[in-house]
Amino acid sequence: MSETSGTSTGSPKLRAELDGVPTYKPGRPAAAGGPAAYKLSSNENPYPPLPGVMESTVAAAASFNRYPDMACTGLTEELAARFGVPVSHVATGTGSVGVAQSLLQSTSGPGDEVVYAWRSFEAYPIITQISGATSVQVPLTDGEVHDLDAMADAITDKTRLIFVCNPNNPTGTAVRKAELERFLDRVPSDILVVIDEAYREFVRDTEIPDGIELYRDRPNVAVLRTFSKAYGLAGLRVGFAIAHEPVADALRKTAVPFGVSQLAQDAAVASLRAEDELLGRVGSLVVERERVHAELVAQGWTVPEAQANFVWLRLGERTSDFAAECERHGVVVRPFAGEGVRVTIGETEANDLFLKAAEGFRREG
Ligand SMILES: *Cc1c(COP(=O)(O)O)cnc(C)c1O
Repeated sequence: MSETSGTSTGSPKLRAELDGVPTYKPGRPAAAGGPAAYKLSSNENPYPPLPGVMESTVAAAASFNRYPDMACTGLTEELAARFGVPVSHVATGTGSVGVAQSLLQSTSGPGDEVVYAWRSFEAYPIITQISGATSVQVPLTDGEVHDLDAMADAITDKTRLIFVCNPNNPTGTAVRKAELERFLDRVPSDILVVIDEAYREFVRDTEIPDGIELYRDRPNVAVLRTFSKAYGLAGLRVGFAIAHEPVADALRKTAVPFGVSQLAQDAAVASLRAEDELLGRVGSLVVERERVHAELVAQGWTVPEAQANFVWLRLGERTSDFAAECERHGVVVRPFAGEGVRVTIGETEANDLFLKAAEGFRREG
């Protein structure tokens, strides 16, 4: 047979950039029937969908033979009204990670640099490497906060995009308005700064800025928000960016066509209309967060401030042992081997089980 017959046994040529891409580690689920009954490993919302969401999704199910509204018209208009921005500044996607991937595709490729804090959100190194660009990771301060001065110093003429995760996943810390504004003033206007506010609804310190206020007079700032955390729609994959027109346009060009299902669009609209209930639930989770944080401090732990729906314990070499201890008590947490453990604020019973595990570990350790 000739060499061009298509039956050779070699595998297809894949982009070299994919070599060594770390795979995203989802938080482990609680094993069915096992001792660990509660999943506190993915920053999910313990509440069921908001009122009106089930009804809207059941109604949407009747049209599963149709493609969704590709432009997400209804949701986009609702978001524009809710945040007081032009419709043309809203771009939706398959979760805010989907939008972040589009931001990279829109700005960065081989030879370019993407700056972000580390440790921060696990998706950043993955989507950066897939784009072909190079990650420039700037260590957090000793207080587990973004080192914005060092991040500004890390900018070169190759920098195309900078992520600021505020509050930061997995440490729960946040940067304040004055320091973030000072940083934005230092960033050249042709570099996109993405403020990832996946946990914005859980923020209580009034000094922590709302990115949507910062973006308004800064064309190089984009804000990422999601329905996955406070709104409790992680399973439906819908998030959005608010950005000035050239950036929002680029996101519309690079989005997966029809990526956001009608189910997700309708559920997101229904969730936005249930804002009172949403705020009540978020308020309860924040009360629980403060309780867990205070109790950990009383047990003798050093815990950074927690402005999102999780707490962070830096355990170093004891990380895996601690995670195993939590599992014996019935909760699955999220270990980052050799660094620490991120624990989502969940149901009161789950939080109590976690606190009991932490107390026991502290006494024995
Ligand atoms: C959870 C999370 C997201 C949201 O991801 P979705 O794709 O919207 O589910 C984005 N950024 C950070 C930092 C997160 O922790």
